[in-house]
Amino acid sequence: MAGITAARISEVIGAVPTGLFIGGDWTAGDGKVAVEDPSNGETLSEVADASPAQGMLALDAAVAAQKDWAATHPRVRGEILRRAFELLIARTEDFALLMTLEMGKPLAEARGEVVYGAEFFRWFSEEAVRIAGRYATAPSGGTRLLTMKQPVGPVFAITPWNFPLAMGTRKIGPALAAGCTVVIKPAELTPLTTLALASLLTEAGLPAGVVNVVTTSRAGALSEPIIRDPRLRKLTFTGSTPVGRKLIEQSAQQVLKVSMELGGNAPFVVFADANLDRAVDGAMLAKMRNIGEACTAANRFIVHESVAEEFSQRLAARMGAMVVGRGIDDGVQVGPLINDAAVEKVSELVADALDHGAKVLTGGDKVGDRGYFYAPTVLTGVPRTARMFSNEIFGPVAPITTFGSDDEGIALANDTEFGLVAYAFTESLTRALTVAERLETGMVGINQGIVSNPAAPFGGVKASGLGREGGNEGIEEYLETKYVGIAL
Ligand code: NAP
Repeated sequence: MAGITAARISEVIGAVPTGLFIGGDWTAGDGKVAVEDPSNGETLSEVADASPAQGMLALDAAVAAQKDWAATHPRVRGEILRRAFELLIARTEDFALLMTLEMGKPLAEARGEVVYGAEFFRWFSEEAVRIAGRYATAPSGGTRLLTMKQPVGPVFAITPWNFPLAMGTRKIGPALAAGCTVVIKPAELTPLTTLALASLLTEAGLPAGVVNVVTTSRAGALSEPIIRDPRLRKLTFTGSTPVGRKLIEQSAQQVLKVSMELGGNAPFVVFADANLDRAVDGAMLAKMRNIGEACTAANRFIVHESVAEEFSQRLAARMGAMVVGRGIDDGVQVGPLINDAAVEKVSELVADALDHGAKVLTGGDKVGDRGYFYAPTVLTGVPRTARMFSNEIFGPVAPITTFGSDDEGIALANDTEFGLVAYAFTESLTRALTVAERLETGMVGINQGIVSNPAAPFGGVKASGLGREGGNEGIEEYLETKYVGIAL
């Protein structure tokens, strides 16, 4: 592991607070939870295990801080976010190493996530001072119509393990900008980044109680009483669709405002007229970013029959040449999956595809006997009945199928309960726009394999979720519109 010494790892891990962050204080939990390095299964640290009662204390703190935070001037809220952005960028190396250690992604990608995650703070620091209403005359005259925006109130944020920083900043940024206080529960597998972030926010000047962090091994037991508490006004969740469905049900009790960033099953459609250099580059990003463990990961490659052979061979050559290993090591491009269960799931999906007649062009197996590594894999001739076409693979496996007419390709792309993102490669502007209109997703990448951008509205339709994060839309999720009718 040239460059990253054991002393450096101890320094970065040792600097992360391991308690619960409630009301500006770090407190012990009701037990501890071990955090593992997925590249070798070793314990990196132990963090506090919050009980459901401690979850309620965090909500109490957020409720207590809500009034003052909402009254804090937008410029002040914005400047705290701006300082947090600057601190994050200044500490890119520490946050990147922390994420690589607890989640596994290669260091270069972790650095990219620090920049991407920090950008949500910068973007929303700029949005904080642009919250406005409007004033209009009713069409019949007389009455004036005044609308004002107000913070929705205390927010509960639940985040997944795959982007430990960005999934948090994408929620904390707009919530703080809008004037909302937050309780955040990071994933049990990757709590360290959120704990380090809480410490950084304090340094940036965030008052006590405005952001509270609870780490726990009892996600359901801790979350449900918070969600059912009438003082909570907003739930924002990123994670799997089954858990999202359950949380929507729980939210119905208090008619909570909810944002749900759920699972994906992205089609990657390559048309006959695609520029294959761009398509293969795009495929590498769409498939291999984050080791394939992204909601936006291309899950089904739908390639025109006239270019399928060349595209498949070129993708297999690129994926087969990737360096698999521990994310902190120089030159590594593919880190471990998050845990053993993830490797088992990917292995089962590949076995099922092979049973259905698929062929392996490269990969197709686990790598090594330590840590949770799976080889970059390309499968061709995958029939539409294979389970991986209806399930998120969440790993480095690219299944390829073919199509003839545009109608067939688009029908295949839309043949899923999910609707987060789709990618389409074509050199025709008319085809690109027609296809973008017909794809049933919240986002479309045309001739590009990545769509995430803090300045754009990220989110899905169908079973991929509700609401948008980022862009001008992002802050709206944390605001209520009040209308005042005025007789003149
Ligand atoms: P997950 O199992 O749904 O977990 C997500 C979060 O929910 C974790 O913090 C988890 O806590 C918590 N959780 C689990 N069960 C819960 C319950 N009953 N009540 C309250 N909270 C509960 O998903 P994951 O495996 O971490 O993440 C992968 C999924 O996230 C994929 O489906 C991916 O597509 C999706 N994702 C979507 C987006 C998007 O923007 N659309 C972005 C990234 C990921 P524990 O960790 O303690 O279990």
